Amino acid sequence: MDARQEDPRHDGAGAERGRHVLVIGGAGFIGSHYVRELVRDGGPARVTVLDKLTYAGNRANLAPVAGRHTFVQGDICDARLLAEVVPGHDLVVNFAAESHVDRSIADAAPFVRTNVQGVQTLMQVCLEAGTPRIVQVSTDEVYGSIESGSWDEDAPLSPNSPYAASKAGGDLVALSYARTHGLPVSVTRCGNNYGPYQFPEKVVPLFTTRLLDGYGVPLYGDGGNVRDWIHAADHVRGIRLVAERGLPGQIYHIAGTAELTNLELTQHLLHALGAGWDRVERVADRKGHDRRYSLCDARLRALGYAPGVPFEQGLADTVRWYAENRDWWQPLCDRAPAPGTAGAAPVGAARTHD
Ligand code: NAD
Repeated sequence: MDARQEDPRHDGAGAERGRHVLVIGGAGFIGSHYVRELVRDGGPARVTVLDKLTYAGNRANLAPVAGRHTFVQGDICDARLLAEVVPGHDLVVNFAAESHVDRSIADAAPFVRTNVQGVQTLMQVCLEAGTPRIVQVSTDEVYGSIESGSWDEDAPLSPNSPYAASKAGGDLVALSYARTHGLPVSVTRCGNNYGPYQFPEKVVPLFTTRLLDGYGVPLYGDGGNVRDWIHAADHVRGIRLVAERGLPGQIYHIAGTAELTNLELTQHLLHALGAGWDRVERVADRKGHDRRYSLCDARLRALGYAPGVPFEQGLADTVRWYAENRDWWQPLCDRAPAPGTAGAAPVGAARTHD
């Protein structure tokens, strides 16, 4: 057993050391976390970020590593641009996606374009460039909903939302390139992430920022939907390990550390912000709302993975980060209310979750 196998918290940093890493979608929530960690660790010789800068992409997420990465604004569907950027990189990690379920219910077209066609474009360009290692980042939502127990990587795909269906499509395209062409791509699937720099349409930053502003928060349906929460730092730890040790053509689950109903999550956030249940408004449930997600991550743990952020500490740190970084989120709330919602209006905005 080598030293890396003995370390249960080994994060796979060696995969990037001395290499050129291309991060697609690296200006978003999780992608920027990955970039900040890569640069902080002094791992790769060069980090390039390619990002379209949709409403969810934000150069401010990369401000802590300004001057220490190359930024290219561009679309993952732009084959000509990718053919210029991809060659010369040793590792390509794809975070780029339309990622918000509610937006996919309002308009699925950009989801199919970026999450399916974009992945196919990237895989083809990587094939032609001879890219030695690729990780496609995906989600537990591709499996649909599970009453009890947990999915392993062989579970059938049964996506319910257009977001989940588009991610499943992208995964299948990536895996087909591995099987047909021998492209060295692995797919990771993770549960619900929380942490700093998450766009304030998702439930943790949405509720946190609204409570900080003195507004109410909208809770879907009976609040009984169950999600398995993971800090973005642990998600990134898993991705880095897969980049280093994962097998091409394989899927790896990165499970959460806290399985909670939305009622329980809301209670944690109310408590952290000193607010009561009078600030919660029940709103009509999301269409096709999955009841429960749950992943088994035994395959990743066999590579040496273990999560490092306890939920209560991670959530408290995250709430504190939003309280201390109003300059980051306030302009985002002002500019991007989700489709069919009331933006930053008090109680009733139905833009929540996942
Ligand atoms: P995000 O919405 O915060 O960021 C997505 C990024 O992709 C943005 O920077 C955006 O500008 C960029 N992008 C979108 N379309 C693009 C295009 N056509 N070309 C280039 N760039 C484009 O998303 P996130 O929450 O950071 O999620 C990152 C990845 O992780 C996604 O693939 C998502 O499916 C997956 N994932 C997310 C979660 C979660 O809880 N957030 C959980 C599991 C998996």
